[in-house]
Amino acid sequence: MIYRAAYVIPMDGRVISNGEVLVRSGRILQVGNGLSASLPEEPVTDFGKCALLPGFVNTHCHLDYTFTRNSLDGKNLWEWIESAAFNWTRKPHMEIVRLSALLGAAELALSGVTCVADSSFTGLSAEALQLIGLKGIVYLELFGQSARADYARVFDEKLSAAQELRNKYPRLATVGLSPHSVYTSNREILELCAEACGKGVPIAIHLAETTAEIDYLLNGTGPIADLRRRMGYEPMTTGMKPAEYLHDVGLLRKGVCVAHCVALTASEIELVARSGVGVAHCPKSNAFLGCGISPMAELVWSGAVVGLGTDSAGTCLRFDFFEEMRSALAMQRARAQDAAVVSAKDVIELATIGGARALGLDSRIGTLEPGKSADFVTVDLSDVLPTEDIWLAILSRNVGKVHTVVVNGEDVVKSGKLQSLDRAHILAELEECLKVE
Ligand SMILES: [Zn+2]
Repeated sequence: MIYRAAYVIPMDGRVISNGEVLVRSGRILQVGNGLSASLPEEPVTDFGKCALLPGFVNTHCHLDYTFTRNSLDGKNLWEWIESAAFNWTRKPHMEIVRLSALLGAAELALSGVTCVADSSFTGLSAEALQLIGLKGIVYLELFGQSARADYARVFDEKLSAAQELRNKYPRLATVGLSPHSVYTSNREILELCAEACGKGVPIAIHLAETTAEIDYLLNGTGPIADLRRRMGYEPMTTGMKPAEYLHDVGLLRKGVCVAHCVALTASEIELVARSGVGVAHCPKSNAFLGCGISPMAELVWSGAVVGLGTDSAGTCLRFDFFEEMRSALAMQRARAQDAAVVSAKDVIELATIGGARALGLDSRIGTLEPGKSADFVTVDLSDVLPTEDIWLAILSRNVGKVHTVVVNGEDVVKSGKLQSLDRAHILAELEECLKVE
C-alpha cells in the first residue's frame, strides 16, 4: 500500500510536499516523492490535504483512572493521591477499571496517539491497548513501602505478572514495572527494580513532581510526610534530593522513564541529562495539580531525552495530544519569558521521536523511515491558509482533525472513526457501571 498526503513529515527534518509512504507487512519500505509512478500496481490511499506524520507517543499515563476525570478540583498532588488513587486501590472495582482503560485507550487513539506508556496497578490497560489496536509499554505498578519486610515477595509476584502479561498480549511493545515514586517505595524495592532494568525490564517512576518531594527526602517533613503518617508509615529521610536519590539506587539510567521532573535543581538537571534516563513531560497534569512547570527546555538543552505525556485523565481532564503539545509550548515560553525557547517543531519532535527515545523504542517507532513500523497519524489541514506555518498549523488542530491512525500498517482510526470498538458504547457501559456503584 502507498499512502499519499499533501505534507508527509517523516520527522527527519524534511516536509515532503505531495509525499508518499510505501508500506508492506506493517513496515515502512520507502518515503519520498513519486513512489506510485515507479510502482503502478501498488494500491494507493490518498489523504489529500492532510499532514501525515509519525503517531504520537504518550510517555506517561494511567488508563485505569480514566473514570476519575473531572471528579476532583482544587486538590494539590498529595491530596489528589489520597482522595483518588489510594482510596480507590483499596477497593478496586475491576469492571470499572476495565472499561476505564478501554475508554482511555479509545480516546488516545482518536487523538492521534499510536503508543502509550501506561503505569497500571491492575494490568488491565494491556488488554485495552491491544483491543483498541495500539502499541504500548504497560508498567505494572508497585507500592513498595506498604510491602514492608515482604518487599521481595511483592516484587517477585509483580515481575512474574509482568512476564505473563507480555506473553498474553504480544502485540504490545513490551511490559515493565513501575515503582510508584521515591516516597512510596522502599529502597530495597527500588534496588530490585534497578537490577531488573539491567536485565532488560523497562521501568517507569514518578520523579520530582513537586518541591514537597525534596522536603520529604531531605528532611522527612512537609505534606508528603503528613500523608505518609496518615497512611501509617514513618517518613523516611535520605539526605538526598529526588534525582540524586534515584541515581544512588541505580535507577537513573537508560531503560527507565521518569515522569514529571518539575522540582529539579540545576545540578539534578545535569545529572538527569547525563544519565540517559527518559523523561515524560506532562505539562497539563503538572499545572492542574499545582505542581509547577517543569524545566523542560533546560532538560532538552542539557541533552536529556524528553517526551510528552498526558498522565491520567483525572489530572489532564481530557485526552487531546494537540492540547498537550500546545500546553508544553505555551508554558515553556511563559516560564522562560522567551518565545524562542521552544518552537512548534521542537514540541512535535518531543511528541513523536522524543517520546520513542524516552521509552527506548526509537529503533521501531517515532519517525517515518524504512524498516520502522508503519505507525502514523494523518491530520486534516483542509482549512489551512497558504500563509500558515506547517508546524503551528498541526499544533493548532484538535482531536476532531485526526483523520486516520495506523499502527503496524492497520487502520485503528479511519475517517475519524475508531475501527475496533465503539467509543460511545464503552462510555455507556462505564456510565451504567458507575451508577450501580
Ligand atoms: Zn502518573
